Amino acid sequence: MSKEKYPYQRIFERDKFKCRYCGVNGSKDFSTWWYANFSIDHIVPKKHGGDDRDENLALSCHTCNLYKGGSKCDSFEEAKEIVLKKRAEAESWFNKHVKQS
Ligand SMILES: [Zn+2]
Repeated sequence: MSKEKYPYQRIFERDKFKCRYCGVNGSKDFSTWWYANFSIDHIVPKKHGGDDRDENLALSCHTCNLYKGGSKCDSFEEAKEIVLKKRAEAESWFNKHVKQS
């Protein structure tokens, strides 16, 4: 791998390598980092008028980013609420259909 930093290294550092939505800490160990598969989320999606300013960017794990998708939201708090609601739904589905007792 190259020694180049991430294009949005400043956002990774500002957010301390943690998902702003679920809080998973990517700096804990490589396995966590690997599965978190972080990306930069536009809090207000570009298609809804969001821009590339740092205030509109949040470090997000792959799963949270996927669940948030292009959901329309106007603030980080609203975005987080959307993600955590979907996470709670997924968790109850998991407990019902996947979890082994
Ligand atoms: Zn997350």
